[in-house]
Amino acid sequence: MSHAPRGALVDSFGRRHNNLRLSVTDRCNLRCVYCMPAEVTFLPRAELLSFEEIERVTRVAVTLGIDKVRITGGEPLLRKDLSRLVMMLSAIPGLVDVGLTTNGISLPQHAQALKDAGLKRINISLDTLNPAKFQQITRRDDFDRVIEGILAARAAGLGPVKVNAVAIRGFTEEEVVPLTAFALEHGVEMRFIEYMPLDAGRTWEREKVLFAAEMIAILEAAFGPMKPSPDNDPRAPAVDYDFVERPGSVGFIASVSRPFCMSCNRLRLTAEGKLRNCLFSLEETDLRSILRGGGADLAIERAFQESVASKWEGHEINTSRFIQPERMMHSIGG
Ligand code: SAM
Ligand code: SF4
Repeated sequence: MSHAPRGALVDSFGRRHNNLRLSVTDRCNLRCVYCMPAEVTFLPRAELLSFEEIERVTRVAVTLGIDKVRITGGEPLLRKDLSRLVMMLSAIPGLVDVGLTTNGISLPQHAQALKDAGLKRINISLDTLNPAKFQQITRRDDFDRVIEGILAARAAGLGPVKVNAVAIRGFTEEEVVPLTAFALEHGVEMRFIEYMPLDAGRTWEREKVLFAAEMIAILEAAFGPMKPSPDNDPRAPAVDYDFVERPGSVGFIASVSRPFCMSCNRLRLTAEGKLRNCLFSLEETDLRSILRGGGADLAIERAFQESVASKWEGHEINTSRFIQPERMMHSIGG
């Protein structure tokens, strides 16, 4: 039987938090339309937490029951020597899992160093196998580099490698089958994430989301029947579906059509040290002022506990009460 650590991060709905997403930068070399505006002013370098500050926050969080972290951004591989941070985090006793989410562009140069530093899980974002559509969604011309990045992650022995695509109505329908075929061919796992209202233009509408059930129907027409995987973790946001007549599975993060807030176990740290208890939070806790103001670890612990205690029941994307946060996805850390 597992025992909750002292001061475990349990909120008023009984949700225990063991998962921390660490954004290391708000910068990016792509400009995906659902995440960032075309022109953007980034945070000054001095405002970003140093690797030592990120490690300290993580070390304290681990004493409160965090055992999984994922490095994200912006584009995390734009931080110089990111593998040093991976190594520092991997050395924290009690932290069982260090993952990375990246757009893959810089993986050919960095995949091996990341693997050697202790990275296991890696998610690479790719919404289409059509270079013209890639340019349309990312506003950049780096399709070939992302494909090379996925292959480099495989070649370096990183695993599991997951490929994430945002599911947008009118864009993704034609991508579901080719992306899945690509993933099956290259031994990576395909995952579709329903488009969420964290875009710069604030043009998100529920009608623009391609739902998991619709994607499953498209896949079944191409590859035969699918069924929910018996290995699904009820606390994980992704639900995997296995193919019945052939090996392989596809994951779906159905944040809009099937919200999973009641099993949410995640907290987020932004690149400038703001702790957020929900992707859609309207409030956040400033840890950087504690870190740079000479605060003790106890002050960081308290900040985590207070943030978790104030966590709401869940986002209200599907209601008229929903308020889109000021921050866009790239400055939260998706
Ligand atoms: N730059 C890295 C990347 O693209 O993988 C890491 C940061 S990105 C913000 C993390 C993930 O959030 C990506 O998989 C991206 O596709 C997803 N994302 C960004 N905006 C989104 C939105 N509005 N709805 C759903 N997913 C989104
Ligand atoms: Fe950059 Fe990732 Fe956002 Fe695309 S989704 S703009 S790659 S941070």
